Amino acid sequence: MKPPQDVTPILKSISAKRRFRLLPASRRGKIILLILTVALAGIWADYFHGTGWSQNLNPILQYHKLRGEDLFNMNEAFFAHGNRTLLEVALTFDDGPHPQSRLQILSILRQYNVHATFFDVGKNMRAHPDLLLQTIAEGNEIANHSNNHRRLDSLSVKERHREINDADITYFMITGKHLTLLRPPGMRYNPEIIGDIRSMGYVTVGYTTASGDFDIASSPDTIANKTLHWIQNGSILLLHDYPETAIALPRILETLRARGFRCVTVSEMLDHLPDRPRNAAVEFQNSKQ
Ligand SMILES: [Zn+2]
Repeated sequence: MKPPQDVTPILKSISAKRRFRLLPASRRGKIILLILTVALAGIWADYFHGTGWSQNLNPILQYHKLRGEDLFNMNEAFFAHGNRTLLEVALTFDDGPHPQSRLQILSILRQYNVHATFFDVGKNMRAHPDLLLQTIAEGNEIANHSNNHRRLDSLSVKERHREINDADITYFMITGKHLTLLRPPGMRYNPEIIGDIRSMGYVTVGYTTASGDFDIASSPDTIANKTLHWIQNGSILLLHDYPETAIALPRILETLRARGFRCVTVSEMLDHLPDRPRNAAVEFQNSKQ
């Protein structure tokens, strides 16, 4: 009787594509289904849980990441993310100072012994200099959020400069100091505007986590849930100087504390960056003096 023939060399000589075609239809269907399920699960995990695998596969992004440019980009003077190895987040409150909520927010920050960065609007500083001074006296930081909260991309170059400078002039008249950090209203900008802000000596500050509190329909619970949904080392939390946010704040701070996060100001977070992006930020800030 003829011994059974070893088919391995024959199988090896057939391409994977052809081997796949030789399989019974039901088996092929199962394999395709498995691949689709894994791909869909990957996309779902990446989109909803921020695993970032799609970014991790991009060599250009990886190169920038290696240089720390995903945290602080020297060419744009754009601060996007804190140190990924430190258990810390930056609390930022935009649009104030508002008399309806600022004192309550300050009192909660005091209670939890944390500091925040307030991206204040020039005309609100002018209307409530006492609130501005108290915010600073309690160890918090003030940053530029324009003079009238006008979208910078809807303005001429001259109007844009005035929006930024007028807020700084107001701040200087109240405190005798200048502002160094800026967040464009509505985060509306383009490369030209970013270049312009940089040339005016400001670091543009982005955010990683939006609380959705600018939506008036958001309840304090929704604001807390959205803020806490995706917190990582080095997250920059975008909140507003609004009453509903003040109500949500104790739960946010309680949860951050329970998870071991330290709350810092934007300047402290810049100072805690890894060497390369930190040096780039220091070099930029020294160059404008
Ligand atoms: Zn704003």
